[in-house]
Amino acid sequence: MAAETYSSADFPYDRIALIGAGLIGTSVAHAVRKRAPDTLIAFADNDPATVAELASLFPDNLSGSDPAIAVKDADLVLLCVPVGAIGAVSDAIAPHLKAGATVSDVGSVKMAVLDQLAGKFGPDVHVVAGHPVAGSERSGPSAGFAELFENRYVILTPTEGFHIPALQALTRFWRKLGAMVEVMEPTHHDLVLAITSHLPHLIAYTIVGTAADLEDVTEGEVMKFSAGGFRDFTRIAASDPVMWRDVFLNNKEAVLEVLGRFSEDLSALQRAIRWGEADRLEDWFTRTRTIRQGIVELGQDTDEEDFGRRSKAPVPKPYGD
Ligand code: NAP
Repeated sequence: MAAETYSSADFPYDRIALIGAGLIGTSVAHAVRKRAPDTLIAFADNDPATVAELASLFPDNLSGSDPAIAVKDADLVLLCVPVGAIGAVSDAIAPHLKAGATVSDVGSVKMAVLDQLAGKFGPDVHVVAGHPVAGSERSGPSAGFAELFENRYVILTPTEGFHIPALQALTRFWRKLGAMVEVMEPTHHDLVLAITSHLPHLIAYTIVGTAADLEDVTEGEVMKFSAGGFRDFTRIAASDPVMWRDVFLNNKEAVLEVLGRFSEDLSALQRAIRWGEADRLEDWFTRTRTIRQGIVELGQDTDEEDFGRRSKAPVPKPYGD
């Protein structure tokens, strides 16, 4: 189905600034180009190679390294940098924001972002933090694509005394990019994402690292005989190291909380294997299968075998080739 496009009268912002132009920043830009082509976009990124790439990816838009220039006259400033960089970026942009501007972000953690933004802006600038629950293991400006947010959830976490029209405009913005919007308490966001996103990444980083460190299995064997389960973990474990370092350092409490629960459940399964508790194992695995079905039914993943990759995978060479 062709994406709807919007005239400037339907789109909530005439001008947006994207600070940080990696996977998420450029995906927002592609989606805005596709859905509301009249909107002006200004980028700022601290990597000169990225700035050069932006000039060819988005030739009609302003791009540079100075966030103060990018935010000038912007109605929406979206911070698309790693969570640990939010404080420095907000210091840099604060004196240059236009009255009535909304500052938001896409960070994977919300309490730490709100702490870094607290008290930085005047009363005529509206802060509404957010997180698109959409992404991939790719990073950098060439990884972005317009459809990233379509049929995905964006969680907005307004705080006490928030500006209602700013929340409404930001909600319209994400909906126009194809996303579904939910509003949540920031602490609850951090707990939910700790279990659905942060812990799975920690487990993937652990499994892949452990496999590489096993003394009796060579790294070559790990790659050559990687079964589907391990390959899925390697995809997650290839995610951006800086982004994920910042996620764990900035969502410490919630991650440690769910990690504690996970360790208890892991020990219970370890015990069930040791004592041959077949029913317990089968019941557990049956329950988890229904969760997978629920995700597919909500349209958040495909039910194609091997996520539809099998048809695209290279045909294995016959033995002896
Ligand atoms: P990315 O592809 O690595 O892009 C981040 C960009 O921001 C890089 O070009 C980086 O440049 C730049 N940057 C870093 N510090 C900066 C600063 N102080 N001023 C200006 N630019 C700066 O990362 P991403 O995947 O788009 O993630 C961006 C944000 O989205 C993160 O907060 C992450 O938590 C959130 N998020 C990511 C995903 C995902 O799946 N990737 C999903 C949802 C939300 P350098 O490389 O030179 O540092």
